Amino acid sequence: MNITLTNSIQKLTDQKPLTQDEFVALLEGNSPQLRDILSKEADQVRRRYFGNRIYIRGLIEFSNYCKNDCLYCGIRNSNHNVKRYRLTKEEILSCCEQGYLLGFRTFVLQSGEDPYFTDERMADIISSIHQNHPDSAITLSLGEHSKDSYELFFKAGADRYLLRHETADEKHYHMLHPDSMSYKNRMQCLKNLKDLGYQTGCGFMVGSPFQTIEMLASDLLFIQEFKPHMIGIGPFISHTDTPFSDKENGTLEDTLLLISILRLMQPTLLLPATTALGTISPNGRELGILAGANVVMPNLSPVAIRKQYSLYDNKICTGDESAQCIQCMKQRMEKIHFTIVIDRGDCPSL
Ligand code: SAH
Repeated sequence: MNITLTNSIQKLTDQKPLTQDEFVALLEGNSPQLRDILSKEADQVRRRYFGNRIYIRGLIEFSNYCKNDCLYCGIRNSNHNVKRYRLTKEEILSCCEQGYLLGFRTFVLQSGEDPYFTDERMADIISSIHQNHPDSAITLSLGEHSKDSYELFFKAGADRYLLRHETADEKHYHMLHPDSMSYKNRMQCLKNLKDLGYQTGCGFMVGSPFQTIEMLASDLLFIQEFKPHMIGIGPFISHTDTPFSDKENGTLEDTLLLISILRLMQPTLLLPATTALGTISPNGRELGILAGANVVMPNLSPVAIRKQYSLYDNKICTGDESAQCIQCMKQRMEKIHFTIVIDRGDCPSL
């Protein structure tokens, strides 16, 4: 290992801030040996705060209508091959009810940017979930909205918000999104969410088209400064009906290295082993946990519509009932000596 790489590992494990070049050195140095070193360190750091406890989040993908046209995403507005659906308020509440009985204490409401769900409709759904399950946390993942809307949702009872920044490189942002979308607005949204008091999550796809190591290093620099409570990362996976249908997928190895780096940068981070990671490799989520992740997000959406929330090809867990999903996840975690807990799973540094 060269000297810059050795120094970068040392700084990371000492929890000192790294420079762009030091992040580049880590990413360029990706090898089985480096992943081994960093995952062991990340595992230790994670155990200090979380032991072998894994938090679960019940994911409810309640609408695949989207006004946006992100070039990578299977539910982009101009994909006319996708059958659109939206769940009713009653259906959403029933997913939560079922989830609660299965031991979930966080519900994640995710959707495309669907104008049908006005602020009033959203606030009504959020406050109903909050009333029905006062001991549970509500996470939103609804894309970009005004600060006033975010505030309304927060007052209605939402606790957390996931909004992946997608890339911290403005030029790259515009290669992944149509001209109608703006990097500055996405970043402003993240800042607004944090200012309002949300436990805030950003994140990016690993191996997205045109991404370079320098861009990934910029993502890490941004995260180092922004200090989110949660980070969602997963490999980019191409979707047949998008302009990126022929682009290469991100890799398991790059994602695992990044998970360990993120854990070491922020020991108390809520960091999921994502469905996309489980999609590119049969035991991807287990490997993600072993690399430093501490959250999994089983699907609570009704089975009838699951296949239609197709962000990318071959998405896993689209055929199983929620009860089967959580059972399968429990077994997967037990096999690697971790345990799923019935807990809201808030960020311990709050
Ligand atoms: N509309 C919401 C939710 C988006 S879907 C929002 O804008 O935040 C959640 C995440 O899935 C996205 O942020 C993106 O990073 C990821 N995603 C979308 N298409 C993908 C693909 N083809 N491969 C991997 N991840 C993808």
